Amino acid sequence: MDFTGKHVIVTGAGKGIGRATAVMLARRGAKVVALTRSAADLESLEKEIGCVPIPVDLADAAATRAAALKALPADYLVNCAGTTELEPFLDVSVENFDLLYAVNTRAPMIVAQEYARDRVGKGAKGAIVNVSSVAAFVGIPDHAAYCASKSGLDGLTRVMARELAPKGIRVNGVHPTVTLTPMAVKAWSDPDKAAGMLGRIPVGRFADPDDIAEVILFLLSDEAAMVNGLSMPVDGGYTIA
Ligand code: NDP
Repeated sequence: MDFTGKHVIVTGAGKGIGRATAVMLARRGAKVVALTRSAADLESLEKEIGCVPIPVDLADAAATRAAALKALPADYLVNCAGTTELEPFLDVSVENFDLLYAVNTRAPMIVAQEYARDRVGKGAKGAIVNVSSVAAFVGIPDHAAYCASKSGLDGLTRVMARELAPKGIRVNGVHPTVTLTPMAVKAWSDPDKAAGMLGRIPVGRFADPDDIAEVILFLLSDEAAMVNGLSMPVDGGYTIA
């Protein structure tokens, strides 16, 4: 898959899956426009791949819209930034619920709106990949707000796929299982919990960020020209086991 000359917005490009996606895109010729929070990550990514760095807190709707407008024009969009807080359902706080919804669901909507408005206005084709999670398919204890935010993102993906594909923009979701990133350290460092999850993954390992990035690039590419509205597990078979 060759992305030479293509501009690609990647949110959450500072760490983990977003960073792996940004680096892979750059190696395949793309110019990455990186929207993420930590200045140090943006600086090191800029050094590594020569991206366009746009610092933003995606929990802030107005700042997110301003950053999305600054990122234009772009050929493709990857909504990868995400966050989590672990709480049993009975203890879920409104603050954390709202934060996860803002970053995991609302921010992808805002960035996609501005990206798609620009593409449609120019009569240009495009593609969006929203990074969801297996947590949108199953109920994972202590992940109520996270599961809800990712299920919400999937609803958005399906409606966007129906409304935008006739205008030339395909929209798909990818659903990773546990992937070895800073987020996984936060969510899965309890060995008993991790072992239980691992035992349900038929391929017998957690994912590497590059496993997810490869699928994201495929869904962006013209090779996936007939793929639209898909919720694609990248989970080693976790959801069928
Ligand atoms: P990481 O925590 O490793 O990286 C997340 C990236 O998103 C960081 O660069 C982070 O920046 C950025 N980000 C988070 N919150 C904000 C914010 N408010 N504003 C701007 N940027 C923000 O996560 P992963 O790479 O693991 O996750 C990437 C995506 O994959 C997420 O959507 C996640 O939900 C999903 N996913 C991850 C799985 C996993 O096991 N790792 C499994 C399934 C899905 P900063 O550090 O500066 O805050």
